[in-house]
Amino acid sequence: MSVDLLKDLNLEQKKAVVHEHGPLLIVAGAGTGKTTVVTRRIAWLIETKRAKPENILALTFTDKAAAEMEERVDLLLPYGYVDLQVSTFHSFCEHLLRQYGVEIGLSRDFKLANELDSWLLTRKHFDEFELDHYRPLGNPTKYIKSILTHFSRAKDSAITPDQYLDFVEEQKLNLDSAQGDDNATSEVKRLEELAKAYQTYQQVLSENDYLDFGDLLLYTLELLKKRPKVLSELQEQYTHILVDEFQDTNAAQYEIVKLLAAPKNNLTVVGDDDQSIYQFRGASLANILRFKTDYPDASQVVLVDNYRSVQGILDHAYEFIQQNNPNRLEVQGESRISKKLKANCEGHGSIEHIHCATLDDEIKTVWEKIAAIKQKDSDISWNDFAILVRSNNAGTAFASALDQQKIPFQFLALSGLYRTKPVLDLIAFFRVIDNPNESPSLYRLFTLPMYQIPATDLAELMHLARRKGKSLSQACQIGKSLLSFEQSTWAKIDLLMNHIAQFRDLAAHKRVSELLLIVAKDSGYLECVNQLDEQDKIDSFSHMQQLYERAKSFEKRADHPVLHHFLNEFQHEIDAGEEGSLHVDLDAGPELVRIMTIHAAKGLEFKYVFVVNMVSQRFPTRERKDAIPLPIGLVDEVFKEGQTHLEEERRLFYVAMTRAKNELYFTSADDYGGARTRKLSRFLDELGYEKTETKAIIQIFDEDQNEPVVPEVSVQYKIPKQFSFTQLAAFKTCPLQYKFAHVLKIPVMGKWTFSFGKSMHNTLHRFFEVWLERTALKQTTLFSQPGSDPVAKNGPISLPGCDPVPVGLDELLEMYVNAWQDDWYTDDKQREEYRKQGEQSLRDYYKIIQDEQPKPFALEKGFTLKFNDLIIKGRIDRIDTFEDGFEIIDYKTGKSKLDKDLKKTDKEQLFLYQLAAKEILGLKPKKLTFHYLENNSTVSFLATDEELSELKASVTKRVEGIRSSEFHPTPGFHCKFCDFKDICEFAQS
Ligand code: ATP
Ligand code: MG
Repeated sequence: MSVDLLKDLNLEQKKAVVHEHGPLLIVAGAGTGKTTVVTRRIAWLIETKRAKPENILALTFTDKAAAEMEERVDLLLPYGYVDLQVSTFHSFCEHLLRQYGVEIGLSRDFKLANELDSWLLTRKHFDEFELDHYRPLGNPTKYIKSILTHFSRAKDSAITPDQYLDFVEEQKLNLDSAQGDDNATSEVKRLEELAKAYQTYQQVLSENDYLDFGDLLLYTLELLKKRPKVLSELQEQYTHILVDEFQDTNAAQYEIVKLLAAPKNNLTVVGDDDQSIYQFRGASLANILRFKTDYPDASQVVLVDNYRSVQGILDHAYEFIQQNNPNRLEVQGESRISKKLKANCEGHGSIEHIHCATLDDEIKTVWEKIAAIKQKDSDISWNDFAILVRSNNAGTAFASALDQQKIPFQFLALSGLYRTKPVLDLIAFFRVIDNPNESPSLYRLFTLPMYQIPATDLAELMHLARRKGKSLSQACQIGKSLLSFEQSTWAKIDLLMNHIAQFRDLAAHKRVSELLLIVAKDSGYLECVNQLDEQDKIDSFSHMQQLYERAKSFEKRADHPVLHHFLNEFQHEIDAGEEGSLHVDLDAGPELVRIMTIHAAKGLEFKYVFVVNMVSQRFPTRERKDAIPLPIGLVDEVFKEGQTHLEEERRLFYVAMTRAKNELYFTSADDYGGARTRKLSRFLDELGYEKTETKAIIQIFDEDQNEPVVPEVSVQYKIPKQFSFTQLAAFKTCPLQYKFAHVLKIPVMGKWTFSFGKSMHNTLHRFFEVWLERTALKQTTLFSQPGSDPVAKNGPISLPGCDPVPVGLDELLEMYVNAWQDDWYTDDKQREEYRKQGEQSLRDYYKIIQDEQPKPFALEKGFTLKFNDLIIKGRIDRIDTFEDGFEIIDYKTGKSKLDKDLKKTDKEQLFLYQLAAKEILGLKPKKLTFHYLENNSTVSFLATDEELSELKASVTKRVEGIRSSEFHPTPGFHCKFCDFKDICEFAQS
């Protein structure tokens, strides 16, 4: 069944895929199959047994790109595999630091600080920063954001606070020799202030157990440099390293890759200098140039056949990017390469510039054109269109126009969460709960479908409030004797007021995230969202989920994670001009036109691309230097200032153009609301376009058709290409439940049983992890000096043969304390009871272990199982050696069961693991065991070969079901336990 991994590849691509040893540089223009080569190469290395999956490390830049790459490899490989690392730089570093960070003094459970966390932390600890220059009297916290950006730039360039301070010391010395220059003195003082603030910032992060994104890289570098043992372990593990989008690696990332790849240097990097678009984040085109210097013996492959776009588009893009000469690879270095691309796609395609009078006309032109193209050809999907914008803001107008026209779209905005409807609605609830006299928010609540009172009544209430100088809420009370509303209006007012009172009682002691879900559910809001159109429903649930995550992140930081404090923090954020970062899942939902920034479109392709707002100052943007740039001399700059920004904007435009397969449109207008007529973008000038004489919209429809008709939209769900056991089980229980949980991803209340289960599970995981570390150590310490290893400080290491359990009971109990999760218990009493019960259960288990002496072999073993075209991902809690084979163990939280009570479906999960262990891990499972954590009882069994083939058949059938499903409900007894019973019209009570 093996796929021919070299099939359809051209000669150069093949050469890159089957490259044997040593460094390999692939530079090539857009759409030439660079990413394709990386994925095929991974599959080829595994298939031809040149590398095991766990020896391969593939790195890229976005989660989306990583997920896509992994998916492509999954499809290419005939069987499943274990432990292939395809990830972003950041998540790879996080993974490393969680595993080895203790070696450089990091805690294992560090939290990740996003920009907001950093900002809030700095604000909270502001007094610890000894600022002067950057602390204006009138507005002391004014510069926090700029200062943080400054630190982040330093981190991108791999500069530590110590290095920064050393640099300042040097400047001071220079100053001594050039005495008396006041400007120079104050400049050095300013730098010293920054360097010290940088140091303080790092201290604040570390005292609060936070790492920011830059830290992930910096600490990884520190780990690799200071701990040669760890480095060599990793070097041995990752025998093959591949990096996609190499042009966007920053100095720190490149250094990490170099360290890991040495000394074998089986390092494949793939990039296009013309698509380097993250210079502002410290990504540097210089890396490609340096690669050749660092690895003079590197093989080089140049790809020139393009498989994405028609020739016209390629020629235009190529001609355009020449403007960046000589700062391009094509004209640099000895080995001149040609990046002129040859189209493999047939057909003419087209490029067009449409100039309009106003922005509204421009928007109309775009959606009309989209509708017309779609209508003409039924094979075209909404997914084939992209509207690319230079900045997030520019997308909003296009989004609302498409919305009005009922063209399904997805706006991949990077921020704006706080302006979305569900967030505004739920925050309105919060505000009124916190302060009943918050009239604007209460007004908003009265307009929600659950409480909607007639507009005239609401107006009267508002009028009464104003007349009497009262809040809206007070007006509702006094209005009872003054206003003559219908009974139904009063009933709705009472309903809302009762809800608010009820929520207020909870707000005093519930965590905000919990309160959020209770409010959404008990007010009936969740049910209303569930009545929306499919796309609105998907968006709304996603926005609610993100607000929930926002609340969770507050809880991590807060001493008192209750509503009032959350609202304070939230308000600070809004006041600081934040709009809430927004995460959009590219794969979610039905067919959609994408509106996105060019940055987000990197690596993607669409048949029809519209690059809009092509006027001066919108694209290219005016250069906005960092408010506080890194001092000259602290980092080496390869290219001269001045040219850089414009060149980067050009590369961005090149990326935009090369996303198009068939047709490419540039649009512009004279009037964007300012006083002056806008000039055309200089990029269009460079391409030879001019403003067209007529500023009218170009007629693109048949004359007899006045209004363009937007074709009917049918909703089609993207079905995942891979499944987990949980998904399969959910679908089997009820397809509609599957849709709620895994397609719409509706946020659900946690359960205390989950918290308890997680606490126990994590404790045992940690326990056996240390066990494995120590037994491995025991073996090595027989040959080397004991005591030098960090685990030694965690407790005495028993000598081989003395004590069969190498981790003490007291250690186990300490791990329990650290792993404990507080969430979701009904009250303190219950939480305490369970905490005690858990402890007792662990004490009992420790005795059992002492008696039975298990032999742990592996923990949390992830696998990818593949049969036919079906991919299943899973993770096995624990594998022990047992008799002449292995025991597979899964921890369970619920009530313990006896073997006779277990139905076949209950066993399915372990059967699946048995299959994976046998086929993928190459182990011989002898026993499958459910370990019930509540009372340490176990149930063991093993599937026969027949049962395994039955399982395969049943799983295959189920996935077929999911793929063709319309998600019909199958109500029954299980509805009682379903998370969605309150919003499901089919639920059986
Ligand atoms: P970018 O520069 O935008 O990152 P890329 O160089 O990574 O692009 P890919 O995304 O790998 O290019 O490939 C572009 C398109 O060409 C994809 O649709 C891919 O499937 C297709 N493709 C690549 N190589 C071949 C080939 N040899 N035959 C047919 N199609 C190919
Ligand atoms: Mg690519």
